[in-house]
Amino acid sequence: MRHFDLRSLHFGDAGEVWRRVPVEVDPFVYGGLDYEVPEGSVDVLLTAARVGGNVTLSAEFETEVIGPCQRCLGEADVTIQVRGVEYARHGESEGEEEGEEGYVTSFIVDLGRWARDLIAEELPPKLLCRDECRGLCVACGADLNVEPEHRHDEP
Ligand SMILES: [Zn+2]
Ligand SMILES: [Zn+2]
Repeated sequence: MRHFDLRSLHFGDAGEVWRRVPVEVDPFVYGGLDYEVPEGSVDVLLTAARVGGNVTLSAEFETEVIGPCQRCLGEADVTIQVRGVEYARHGESEGEEEGEEGYVTSFIVDLGRWARDLIAEELPPKLLCRDECRGLCVACGADLNVEPEHRHDEP
């Protein structure tokens, strides 16, 4: 699922309801390299709290992000925890900066885009196979994790 219809939530007497929603997340580019989430999907816990015509939405999930290490280009795999909050009034996002597009339009939540943006905000500044990754030799591209003693003699 990529879009969620707020009108499908039945608040009844409750001020707050929640749903677990599988959300498709497209592969994305980070630091010039391609990343994806396992199976292309995340399991979002969507909570909606209603006061009058206002709805406060929160989206929470944990996911792995898989792709190349930004130092050695080996396989990197990080797990991130994500949480975002969005305010909607009468089915439209509000409180956004001028020119910024909200995630709720005509009672439809764009969960696919929201989840992707939340992942992007939560990514570490450098996505590495491990913290102490030595990267590649700048002169010849040798993997310094495999050859820790690698060096070039001064000419
Ligand atoms: Zn690495
Ligand atoms: Zn080298």
